[in-house]
Amino acid sequence: MTPDLMEQGAKRVEQYQAALAAKGGNTESGGRAAGFSRLAIPGEVDITHGRILYLEDVSVSFDGFKAINKLSLDIAPGELRCIIGPNGAGKTTMMDIITGKTRPDEGRVFFGSTIDLLRYKESEIAQMGIGRKFQKPTVFEQLTVFENLELALKTNKAVPASMLFRLNSTQSDRLAEILHTIHLADSVSRQAGYLSHGQKQWLEIGMLLMQDPKLLLLDEPVAGMTDEETERTAELFLTLKGQHSLMVVEHDMSFINTISDIVTVLCDGSVLAQGTLAQVQADERVIEVYLGR
Ligand code: ADP
Ligand code: MG
Repeated sequence: MTPDLMEQGAKRVEQYQAALAAKGGNTESGGRAAGFSRLAIPGEVDITHGRILYLEDVSVSFDGFKAINKLSLDIAPGELRCIIGPNGAGKTTMMDIITGKTRPDEGRVFFGSTIDLLRYKESEIAQMGIGRKFQKPTVFEQLTVFENLELALKTNKAVPASMLFRLNSTQSDRLAEILHTIHLADSVSRQAGYLSHGQKQWLEIGMLLMQDPKLLLLDEPVAGMTDEETERTAELFLTLKGQHSLMVVEHDMSFINTISDIVTVLCDGSVLAQGTLAQVQADERVIEVYLGR
């Protein structure tokens, strides 16, 4: 390099540092102020910014119809967030976007502050620790409760698949703990096909828990459950809160009342209101579009 160019470079650095000092030392990142930088560790979810999930201005259209429209929301680590809203609001589509099933047309979707979920496939996102429970239970009816849970470990690609698959002691302890959490310890040898609808839902939640997800997305988990099953599911979710982050879509207001801290109301593909259940229930716009008068 010629001394000329080096001098020019040194001048640029000086100017840059002077400009930085004038701004109070803050650098900019993607047009935003950034106080410090951090290395992204592959496979690790960085929650030091207090968010496990972050959606910003996400939109998706189906044949010209905007199912998700500039949707922004975030979830804190260990939070149990309830999502309510009328049919067609975009609740399931939002979960499709987070889990990589649907690609948004625009917007940002981050898992922690470093993992850009839009760069990954559905299977990779599941692998990173985002578990999803669809509305209908999807357990293996011919297999026992135990076998279903065991299988959930095998399908975890972090665990080597093998014909001679045996649970190690940590895994069997975890399985026993989960059996207890999902209230199925007494039904461990029962064929899943003979379980009640509610028990099948718990088993499927147990299967997700076997993979130790950081974030769990649950779409209408208590639909079709008896009152007693719904109450036990509320207890279950309250035990999961703190250990996992949860996003729960439901219509059952007494269930929401039992489990919720912050409730987000979705309507026409974006956030209409957010707050405690009491706050959103008192919101005129929410009453208008969802709760009715
Ligand atoms: P919610 O779960 O809140 O009831 P959805 O996310 O299922 O709402 O649907 C939001 C809107 O997007 C609905 O009008 C629905 O018909 C439409 N929609 C969802 N998925 C698709 C798709 N794959 N193709 C076309 N339209 C869709
Ligand atoms: Mg839905």
